Amino acid sequence: RKGTVIITGASSGLGLATAKALAETGEWHVIMACRNFLKAEKAAKSVGITKESYSVMHLDLASLESVRQFADTFRRSGRPLDALVCNAAVYLPTAKEPTYTAEGFELSVGTNHLGHFLLARLLLDDLKQSDYPYKRLIIVGSITGNTNTLAGNVPPKANLGDLRGLAGGLNGIQSSAMIDGGDFDGAKAYKDSKVCNMLTMQEFHRRYIEETGITFASLYPGCIATTGLFREHIPLFRLLFPPFQKYITKGYVLEEEAGGRLAQVVSDPSLTKSGVYWSWNKNSESFENQLSKEASDAEKARKLWEVSEKLVGLA
Ligand code: NDP
Repeated sequence: RKGTVIITGASSGLGLATAKALAETGEWHVIMACRNFLKAEKAAKSVGITKESYSVMHLDLASLESVRQFADTFRRSGRPLDALVCNAAVYLPTAKEPTYTAEGFELSVGTNHLGHFLLARLLLDDLKQSDYPYKRLIIVGSITGNTNTLAGNVPPKANLGDLRGLAGGLNGIQSSAMIDGGDFDGAKAYKDSKVCNMLTMQEFHRRYIEETGITFASLYPGCIATTGLFREHIPLFRLLFPPFQKYITKGYVLEEEAGGRLAQVVSDPSLTKSGVYWSWNKNSESFENQLSKEASDAEKARKLWEVSEKLVGLA
Protein backbone atom coordinates (compact mmCIF):
# COMPACT_ATOMS: atom_id res chain seq x y z
CA ARG A 1 0.00 0.00 0.00
CA LYS A 2 0.89 3.69 -0.32
CA GLY A 3 2.20 5.39 2.80
CA THR A 4 0.21 8.26 4.28
CA VAL A 5 2.09 11.38 5.36
CA ILE A 6 0.66 14.48 6.99
CA ILE A 7 2.59 17.68 6.22
CA THR A 8 1.64 20.85 8.07
CA GLY A 9 1.99 24.11 6.15
CA ALA A 10 2.13 22.33 2.80
CA SER A 11 0.57 25.32 1.02
CA SER A 12 3.92 26.97 0.29
CA GLY A 13 7.70 26.82 0.48
CA LEU A 14 9.37 23.77 1.98
CA GLY A 15 6.11 21.99 2.83
CA LEU A 16 4.78 22.27 -0.71
CA ALA A 17 8.09 21.18 -2.26
CA THR A 18 8.17 18.16 0.07
CA ALA A 19 4.56 17.27 -0.75
CA LYS A 20 5.44 17.37 -4.43
CA ALA A 21 8.59 15.28 -4.03
CA LEU A 22 6.77 12.57 -2.04
CA ALA A 23 3.68 12.52 -4.27
CA GLU A 24 5.88 12.10 -7.35
CA THR A 25 7.37 8.88 -6.02
CA GLY A 26 3.92 7.28 -6.34
CA GLU A 27 4.48 5.71 -2.93
CA TRP A 28 2.84 8.37 -0.77
CA HIS A 29 -0.55 9.91 -0.22
CA VAL A 30 0.03 13.40 1.14
CA ILE A 31 -2.37 15.04 3.57
CA MET A 32 -1.77 18.75 3.24
CA ALA A 33 -2.66 20.13 6.68
CA CYS A 34 -3.28 23.82 6.00
CA ARG A 35 -5.06 26.83 7.43
CA ASN A 36 -6.12 28.12 4.01
CA PHE A 37 -7.96 25.37 2.15
CA LEU A 38 -8.21 27.19 -1.16
CA LYS A 39 -4.61 28.32 -1.18
CA ALA A 40 -3.51 24.74 -0.52
CA GLU A 41 -5.66 23.36 -3.37
CA LYS A 42 -4.28 25.97 -5.75
CA ALA A 43 -0.71 25.35 -4.60
CA ALA A 44 -1.05 21.59 -5.17
CA LYS A 45 -2.38 22.18 -8.66
CA SER A 46 0.25 24.80 -9.49
CA VAL A 47 3.12 22.39 -8.87
CA GLY A 48 1.32 19.53 -10.62
CA ILE A 49 0.57 17.16 -7.73
CA THR A 50 -1.94 14.69 -9.14
CA LYS A 51 -5.44 14.56 -7.67
CA GLU A 52 -5.26 11.01 -6.34
CA SER A 53 -2.02 11.60 -4.47
CA TYR A 54 -3.12 14.31 -2.01
CA SER A 55 -5.97 15.62 0.10
CA VAL A 56 -6.24 18.93 1.90
CA MET A 57 -7.43 18.95 5.52
CA HIS A 58 -8.01 22.09 7.46
CA LEU A 59 -5.56 22.81 10.30
CA ASP A 60 -4.91 26.12 12.01
CA LEU A 61 -2.00 25.61 14.39
CA ALA A 62 -2.77 28.93 16.07
CA SER A 63 -5.87 27.33 17.61
CA LEU A 64 -5.62 24.27 19.85
CA GLU A 65 -9.30 23.60 19.16
CA SER A 66 -8.49 23.39 15.46
CA VAL A 67 -5.58 21.03 16.20
CA ARG A 68 -7.92 18.71 18.11
CA GLN A 69 -10.52 18.86 15.34
CA PHE A 70 -7.87 18.07 12.76
CA ALA A 71 -6.79 14.96 14.68
CA ASP A 72 -10.44 13.81 14.83
CA THR A 73 -11.08 14.50 11.15
CA PHE A 74 -7.93 12.64 10.18
CA ARG A 75 -8.95 9.63 12.28
CA ARG A 76 -12.40 9.59 10.73
CA SER A 77 -10.80 9.43 7.27
CA GLY A 78 -9.83 5.87 8.17
CA ARG A 79 -6.32 6.25 6.77
CA PRO A 80 -3.36 4.85 8.66
CA LEU A 81 -0.68 7.36 9.65
CA ASP A 82 2.86 6.48 8.59
CA ALA A 83 4.66 9.82 8.83
CA LEU A 84 3.94 13.20 10.38
CA VAL A 85 5.91 16.26 9.30
CA CYS A 86 5.64 19.32 11.54
CA ASN A 87 6.75 21.96 9.07
CA ALA A 88 4.50 25.04 9.27
CA ALA A 89 5.87 28.19 10.84
CA VAL A 90 5.41 31.91 11.14
CA TYR A 91 8.27 34.40 11.40
CA LEU A 92 7.49 37.98 12.45
CA PRO A 93 10.85 39.77 12.54
CA THR A 94 9.51 43.31 12.17
CA ALA A 95 6.58 43.06 14.60
CA LYS A 96 6.76 45.77 17.26
CA GLU A 97 4.08 44.22 19.44
CA PRO A 98 3.25 40.58 20.04
CA THR A 99 0.19 39.00 18.45
CA TYR A 100 -1.55 35.96 19.91
CA THR A 101 -3.12 32.60 19.11
CA ALA A 102 -6.77 31.76 19.87
CA GLU A 103 -5.76 30.63 23.36
CA GLY A 104 -3.66 33.75 23.92
CA PHE A 105 -0.10 32.45 23.42
CA GLU A 106 2.43 34.62 21.59
CA LEU A 107 1.88 33.71 17.93
CA SER A 108 5.31 32.41 16.82
CA VAL A 109 5.85 30.04 19.74
CA GLY A 110 2.11 29.28 19.88
CA THR A 111 2.03 28.21 16.23
CA ASN A 112 5.48 26.77 15.62
CA HIS A 113 5.88 24.97 18.94
CA LEU A 114 2.68 24.60 20.99
CA GLY A 115 0.34 23.82 18.06
CA HIS A 116 2.76 21.18 16.78
CA PHE A 117 3.42 19.82 20.26
CA LEU A 118 -0.29 19.09 20.73
CA LEU A 119 -0.67 17.75 17.20
CA ALA A 120 2.25 15.35 17.57
CA ARG A 121 1.06 14.15 20.97
CA LEU A 122 -2.49 13.54 19.71
CA LEU A 123 -1.30 11.60 16.65
CA LEU A 124 1.46 9.60 18.36
CA ASP A 125 -0.80 6.61 18.91
CA ASP A 126 -1.91 6.62 15.29
CA LEU A 127 1.73 6.55 14.20
CA LYS A 128 2.48 3.80 16.68
CA GLN A 129 -0.28 1.64 15.19
CA SER A 130 1.02 1.97 11.64
CA ASP A 131 2.25 -1.29 10.10
CA TYR A 132 4.36 0.55 7.54
CA PRO A 133 8.00 -0.61 7.44
CA TYR A 134 9.13 2.75 8.85
CA LYS A 135 7.13 5.29 10.76
CA ARG A 136 8.49 8.73 11.37
CA LEU A 137 7.76 11.92 13.24
CA ILE A 138 9.73 14.83 11.85
CA ILE A 139 9.88 18.32 13.31
CA VAL A 140 11.59 20.88 11.07
CA GLY A 141 14.34 22.70 12.95
CA SER A 142 16.69 25.45 11.90
CA ILE A 143 20.24 26.63 12.07
CA THR A 144 19.02 29.97 13.47
CA GLY A 145 18.22 28.42 16.84
CA ASN A 146 21.68 26.90 17.04
CA THR A 147 24.12 29.27 18.66
CA ASN A 148 27.01 26.93 17.80
CA THR A 149 26.78 28.20 14.20
CA LEU A 150 27.53 31.52 12.49
CA ALA A 151 23.87 32.05 11.50
CA GLY A 152 22.74 31.20 15.02
CA ASN A 153 24.97 33.94 16.42
CA VAL A 154 23.31 36.79 14.59
CA PRO A 155 21.51 38.77 17.29
CA PRO A 156 18.97 38.46 18.78
CA LYS A 157 20.11 34.98 19.76
CA ALA A 158 17.77 32.21 20.80
CA ASN A 159 17.60 31.74 24.55
CA LEU A 160 14.83 30.04 26.51
CA GLY A 161 16.28 31.06 29.88
CA ASP A 162 14.46 29.31 32.73
CA LEU A 163 11.18 29.22 30.73
CA ARG A 164 9.49 31.63 33.13
CA GLY A 165 7.50 33.41 30.39
CA LEU A 166 6.26 30.13 28.96
CA ALA A 167 5.38 28.77 32.37
CA GLY A 168 3.41 31.96 33.00
CA GLY A 169 1.29 31.36 29.88
CA LEU A 170 3.21 33.46 27.30
CA ASN A 171 0.23 35.80 27.13
CA GLY A 172 1.73 39.26 27.64
CA ILE A 173 -0.61 39.80 30.58
CA GLN A 174 0.32 37.79 33.66
CA SER A 175 3.57 36.84 31.98
CA SER A 176 5.94 38.04 29.31
CA ALA A 177 5.14 37.10 25.69
CA MET A 178 8.69 35.69 25.46
CA ILE A 179 9.71 32.27 26.74
CA ASP A 180 12.62 33.67 28.79
CA GLY A 181 10.43 36.37 30.32
CA GLY A 182 12.14 39.23 28.43
CA ASP A 183 10.81 42.04 26.22
CA PHE A 184 9.04 41.07 23.02
CA ASP A 185 11.28 40.52 19.99
CA GLY A 186 9.66 38.85 16.97
CA ALA A 187 12.90 37.52 15.46
CA LYS A 188 13.97 36.02 18.79
CA ALA A 189 10.51 34.49 19.35
CA TYR A 190 10.93 32.59 16.05
CA LYS A 191 14.41 31.37 16.98
CA ASP A 192 13.19 30.32 20.43
CA SER A 193 10.34 28.39 18.80
CA LYS A 194 12.84 26.53 16.61
CA VAL A 195 14.89 25.58 19.71
CA CYS A 196 11.62 24.24 21.17
CA ASN A 197 11.07 22.21 17.99
CA MET A 198 14.52 20.61 18.24
CA LEU A 199 14.24 19.97 22.00
CA THR A 200 10.78 18.44 21.51
CA MET A 201 12.06 16.01 18.88
CA GLN A 202 14.77 14.79 21.27
CA GLU A 203 12.35 14.46 24.19
CA PHE A 204 9.97 12.41 22.01
CA HIS A 205 12.94 10.20 21.17
CA ARG A 206 13.89 9.70 24.82
CA ARG A 207 10.33 8.99 25.95
CA TYR A 208 8.94 6.95 23.08
CA ILE A 209 11.60 5.31 20.91
CA GLU A 210 11.46 1.96 22.72
CA GLU A 211 7.71 1.75 23.19
CA THR A 212 6.73 2.86 19.67
CA GLY A 213 9.58 2.12 17.24
CA ILE A 214 8.91 5.49 15.64
CA THR A 215 11.88 7.36 14.16
CA PHE A 216 11.98 10.88 15.59
CA ALA A 217 14.05 13.38 13.60
CA SER A 218 14.70 17.03 12.96
CA LEU A 219 16.62 18.77 10.23
CA TYR A 220 17.99 21.97 8.82
CA PRO A 221 17.17 21.82 5.11
CA GLY A 222 19.49 24.71 4.15
CA CYS A 223 18.61 28.35 3.66
CA ILE A 224 15.63 28.52 1.35
CA ALA A 225 15.84 32.27 0.96
CA THR A 226 12.93 32.50 -1.48
CA THR A 227 10.04 31.09 0.61
CA GLY A 228 7.12 32.97 2.11
CA LEU A 229 8.78 32.78 5.52
CA PHE A 230 10.39 36.14 4.89
CA ARG A 231 7.18 37.81 3.71
CA GLU A 232 6.95 39.99 6.83
CA HIS A 233 10.50 41.28 6.48
CA ILE A 234 11.41 44.75 5.21
CA PRO A 235 11.68 45.02 1.38
CA LEU A 236 15.45 45.70 1.40
CA PHE A 237 16.02 42.51 3.37
CA ARG A 238 13.88 40.51 0.97
CA LEU A 239 15.89 41.90 -1.94
CA LEU A 240 19.35 41.25 -0.49
CA PHE A 241 18.80 38.05 1.50
CA PRO A 242 18.73 35.55 -1.43
CA PRO A 243 21.97 36.80 -3.10
CA PHE A 244 23.63 37.12 0.32
CA GLN A 245 22.87 33.48 1.06
CA LYS A 246 23.81 32.40 -2.44
CA TYR A 247 27.21 34.13 -2.72
CA ILE A 248 28.37 34.91 0.82
CA THR A 249 27.20 32.17 3.18
CA LYS A 250 26.70 29.65 0.35
CA GLY A 251 23.96 28.05 2.43
CA TYR A 252 21.35 28.83 -0.23
CA VAL A 253 19.18 26.03 -1.54
CA LEU A 254 16.32 26.00 -4.00
CA GLU A 255 12.89 25.08 -2.65
CA GLU A 256 12.93 21.98 -4.79
CA GLU A 257 16.26 20.80 -3.41
CA ALA A 258 15.17 21.48 0.18
CA GLY A 259 11.90 19.61 -0.46
CA GLY A 260 13.95 16.67 -1.72
CA ARG A 261 15.96 16.72 1.52
CA LEU A 262 12.90 16.69 3.76
CA ALA A 263 11.34 13.98 1.57
CA GLN A 264 14.51 11.95 2.17
CA VAL A 265 14.07 12.25 5.93
CA VAL A 266 10.45 11.04 5.48
CA SER A 267 11.10 8.07 3.23
CA ASP A 268 14.75 7.17 2.68
CA PRO A 269 15.38 3.69 4.15
CA SER A 270 18.90 4.77 5.17
CA LEU A 271 17.70 7.67 7.36
CA THR A 272 15.92 5.64 10.02
CA LYS A 273 18.13 6.57 12.96
CA SER A 274 16.08 8.28 15.66
CA GLY A 275 16.98 11.37 17.69
CA VAL A 276 19.00 12.88 14.85
CA TYR A 277 19.20 16.46 13.56
CA TRP A 278 20.04 16.07 9.87
CA SER A 279 21.91 18.56 7.71
CA TRP A 280 23.47 18.41 4.24
CA ASN A 281 27.01 19.21 3.12
CA LYS A 282 28.20 21.06 0.01
CA ASN A 283 27.72 17.94 -2.08
CA SER A 284 24.16 17.59 -0.81
CA GLU A 285 25.02 14.53 1.27
CA SER A 286 23.15 14.12 4.54
CA PHE A 287 25.01 13.96 7.85
CA GLU A 288 24.12 13.92 11.55
CA ASN A 289 24.68 17.46 12.73
CA GLN A 290 25.51 18.73 16.24
CA LEU A 291 23.00 20.90 18.06
CA SER A 292 23.96 23.86 20.22
CA LYS A 293 24.31 23.43 23.97
CA GLU A 294 20.84 24.81 24.65
CA ALA A 295 19.16 22.93 21.78
CA SER A 296 20.51 19.63 23.15
CA ASP A 297 19.99 20.30 26.88
CA ALA A 298 18.09 17.23 28.13
CA GLU A 299 17.01 18.88 31.36
CA LYS A 300 15.56 21.85 29.46
CA ALA A 301 13.82 19.49 27.04
CA ARG A 302 12.11 17.71 29.95
CA LYS A 303 11.03 20.97 31.52
CA LEU A 304 9.79 22.36 28.18
CA TRP A 305 7.78 19.16 27.68
CA GLU A 306 6.12 19.44 31.08
CA VAL A 307 5.31 23.15 30.79
CA SER A 308 3.99 22.68 27.23
CA GLU A 309 1.77 19.79 28.35
CA LYS A 310 0.10 22.07 30.87
CA LEU A 311 -0.41 24.89 28.36
CA VAL A 312 -2.04 22.68 25.71
CA GLY A 313 -4.24 20.92 28.25
CA LEU A 314 -2.62 17.48 28.29
CA ALA A 315 -1.60 17.53 31.93
P1 NDP B 1 6.63 29.44 4.26
O1 NDP B 1 6.19 30.71 4.88
O2 NDP B 1 6.75 29.36 2.79
O3 NDP B 1 5.68 28.25 4.73
C1 NDP B 1 5.14 28.21 6.00
C2 NDP B 1 3.86 27.41 5.97
O4 NDP B 1 3.31 27.40 7.29
C3 NDP B 1 2.79 28.01 5.05
O5 NDP B 1 2.18 26.94 4.36
C4 NDP B 1 1.83 28.64 6.03
O6 NDP B 1 0.49 28.67 5.59
C5 NDP B 1 1.95 27.67 7.19
N1 NDP B 1 1.37 28.22 8.42
C6 NDP B 1 1.69 29.37 9.06
N2 NDP B 1 0.88 29.54 10.12
C7 NDP B 1 0.05 28.48 10.16
C8 NDP B 1 -1.01 28.10 11.01
N3 NDP B 1 -1.41 28.86 12.03
N4 NDP B 1 -1.66 26.94 10.76
C9 NDP B 1 -1.30 26.17 9.72
N5 NDP B 1 -0.30 26.47 8.87
C10 NDP B 1 0.35 27.63 9.08
O7 NDP B 1 8.02 29.12 4.96
P2 NDP B 1 9.11 27.93 4.75
O8 NDP B 1 8.64 26.96 3.75
O9 NDP B 1 10.40 28.60 4.55
O10 NDP B 1 9.12 27.29 6.18
C11 NDP B 1 8.82 25.94 6.42
C12 NDP B 1 9.66 25.41 7.57
O11 NDP B 1 11.02 25.46 7.24
C13 NDP B 1 9.50 26.19 8.88
O12 NDP B 1 9.44 25.26 9.96
C14 NDP B 1 10.77 27.00 8.94
O13 NDP B 1 11.12 27.29 10.29
C15 NDP B 1 11.74 26.04 8.32
N6 NDP B 1 12.97 26.61 7.83
C16 NDP B 1 12.97 27.48 6.77
C17 NDP B 1 14.17 28.01 6.32
C18 NDP B 1 14.22 28.95 5.19
O14 NDP B 1 15.32 29.38 4.86
N7 NDP B 1 13.12 29.31 4.56
C19 NDP B 1 15.44 27.61 6.93
C20 NDP B 1 15.31 26.68 8.02
C21 NDP B 1 14.12 26.20 8.42
P3 NDP B 1 -0.05 29.80 4.56
O15 NDP B 1 0.34 29.33 3.20
O16 NDP B 1 -1.53 29.75 4.78
O17 NDP B 1 0.58 31.09 4.94
